[in-house]
Amino acid sequence: MNQQTTTRRLSAGATDFIATANLDVLLKQPQPDTVQVRDILAKSLAKEALTAAETAILIHADDPDSVAAVFAAANRLKREVYGNRIVLFAPLYIGNHCVNNCAYCGFKVTNTKAIRRTLSAEEVEQQVTFLENQGHKRLILVFGEHPDYTPEFIAENVRRIYDIKSGPGEIRRVNINAAPLDGAGYRTVKSSGIGTYQIFQETYHLPTYQEMHPVGTLKGDYLYRLDGLSRAFEADCDDMGVGALFGLYDWRYEVLALVTHSLFLQARYGVGPHTISFPRLCPASGVDLTTPYSVADRDFMRLIAILRLAVPYTGLILTARESAAIRREAMEYGVSQIDAGSRIEIGGYTEVGDMQVMEREQFSLGDIRSLDAVIRELLEDGYVPSFCTACYRLGRTGKQFMEFAIPGFIGSYCTPNAMTTLAEYLADYASPSTRAAGMQRLRAELDAMPDNQRKTEVAERLRRILECGEHDLYV
Ligand code: SF4
Repeated sequence: MNQQTTTRRLSAGATDFIATANLDVLLKQPQPDTVQVRDILAKSLAKEALTAAETAILIHADDPDSVAAVFAAANRLKREVYGNRIVLFAPLYIGNHCVNNCAYCGFKVTNTKAIRRTLSAEEVEQQVTFLENQGHKRLILVFGEHPDYTPEFIAENVRRIYDIKSGPGEIRRVNINAAPLDGAGYRTVKSSGIGTYQIFQETYHLPTYQEMHPVGTLKGDYLYRLDGLSRAFEADCDDMGVGALFGLYDWRYEVLALVTHSLFLQARYGVGPHTISFPRLCPASGVDLTTPYSVADRDFMRLIAILRLAVPYTGLILTARESAAIRREAMEYGVSQIDAGSRIEIGGYTEVGDMQVMEREQFSLGDIRSLDAVIRELLEDGYVPSFCTACYRLGRTGKQFMEFAIPGFIGSYCTPNAMTTLAEYLADYASPSTRAAGMQRLRAELDAMPDNQRKTEVAERLRRILECGEHDLYV
């Protein structure tokens, strides 16, 4: 596949690392034998990242026994690295003006049915106050690509959101999903105190990319987008989020490409992506797109498990695009972060209730349950819902995060911090039945801890939150 070029400024030594990865060759590999599969699973369970070639072997291992072994290993690895915590966040769409014309998107410029809007400062305050009063602490802001949505505009919204307080409510981490920027743009956004900068390549398969993103549109520039997070790293941003829109092209190719992207960033900047997202194509306003690559639920679970095994220390995000049932199952195979109580219409948190208004959405949601309902189900399934932002606020980000994560220390921080953020939620926002389930979970987690100084400290932090009304206690 020919190397892509661009006229826009790239990172130092930028390269089309997908073109040179020979992913098509890897996809033509024969069915592996059980020894190959077993050896690769052993490497994953030793918490070592897999190469694209090793990942391809897990993809080709589609006989029932191998698939079962992959699921079991992914479940075990997830529990060993992430424990039983699930991190929660909410999306906040700031504006859906966009100059691009992506074939799959309800916000595309040619969709005349789309109701275009950008939240004013007052409206941002209304939305964020609503989210804080639900108990949210972590947001991802989403912007179309438009001259109005400058780095300064993004930074201004981030700062505004950190300043909004409602009772005990506050947002402690703001992530961004927006268009790729240049170095100066990233520095501007970084200076506002963002967490993760997310850019989805949508599809890494060049011919499909060109089909879905008309040449001449800003997003039609494949290499500028592929290089987007490299420029962010070089502008001292720490945490990156990558992703692909599954259903545009062969899921096997996209999984190999996501792994290749992760390894490329790891090799070049010493740290891979903080998160990987794998949304599936779904209905959207003004979109009439069918492809031969729709991902069946079984294959979707396989790709999540394989990603879990390939990138042990990268968070896996599954959004409310998916149904509650799919999300519930996917958490067994490696998903570590989900959104909850989400509304993606501009102004949706205070204006649409339990409805979905397609003309105001980028795509339709599969799970619009309340935050409280999602938390209760997580508790019933034995998870600890977490609003933790400690690593980000203590500078355990990027390489520093990996230095903590890799030796397995993170477990010593994640679960205790998840427990204290859960306790805050139970004290301030939970319904009676969720509070009862949550208190039971906290007792079980505490009982499961070995009798040592750490247990005493965690118990004391929980007492201060639940009995003394203190907040924001973390390590
Ligand atoms: S996917 Fe993003 S860039 Fe493309 S049309 Fe939609 S909002 Fe614009």
